[in-house]
Amino acid sequence: MKLTFTKLDTYRKCPLRFRLRYQEKLPEVAMGGRNLSLVLHQALKAFLSNARRDASLDNLLRVYAAACPTPKNQNQEQRYAEGRRVLEAFHWREGSRLGKAVALEQKFAVMVDGVEITGRLDCAMETEEGLELVDFKFTREVPETVDPLQLQVYSLGLKEVTGYTSDILTYYYLRQERKITFPGGEVAVREGQEQVAGLAQQLRADHSFSPKVGDWCGTCSYRKYCPAQQGQPIPTPSQLPVQGTLPL
Ligand code: SF4
Repeated sequence: MKLTFTKLDTYRKCPLRFRLRYQEKLPEVAMGGRNLSLVLHQALKAFLSNARRDASLDNLLRVYAAACPTPKNQNQEQRYAEGRRVLEAFHWREGSRLGKAVALEQKFAVMVDGVEITGRLDCAMETEEGLELVDFKFTREVPETVDPLQLQVYSLGLKEVTGYTSDILTYYYLRQERKITFPGGEVAVREGQEQVAGLAQQLRADHSFSPKVGDWCGTCSYRKYCPAQQGQPIPTPSQLPVQGTLPL
């Protein structure tokens, strides 16, 4: 079985959403802000990969301007300005150590209990406390409870790609200028492996793909199909009766 971390995480949060998205292939409606998030990731990648030579704010804003399409209306101008503010705050906080980024937008694939998990690392930085693995987030809100599984799995990926184990695991919420940090090391790698193996077993044996309600329902495009949200959910395309062909 092959899974991206995003697919595994979708299944973990809600098996019904996983089924509708990846098995029935019903498209999700993109949420506002997704494009800006992609542009910010691109800008940070371009900046950090060259930060050993030029870690200045001017350079960061230059690569942002290059990654961002020219704003064509007031709404786009506001979003452009928001991205710029986020990057200025990021640079102000992290400026002194930006020249030490070591792994950037690096793809990885790791095998766990017969499952291949793929993902993409944002970056890792040398700090006085050791190697810090960082994943950038651009969500509107920081979740009330933040789970380290993604970072634990990415820590496995970092080990696969570089041979190093990260000492610190960090989600960096750019919009809120907030970092949430977990301990890394071999313990984190093992915990990630165990959770992935457990989820893969559940997925292999799952025949019901039941809905699971949580914070994530707010971004779900499938509420109309969901029995946890609607008294009478509409049938999904695969549940509609197949039209029989008329005999000649
Ligand atoms: S609304 Fe919530 S429970 Fe229903 S399918 Fe979407 S994520 Fe799952």
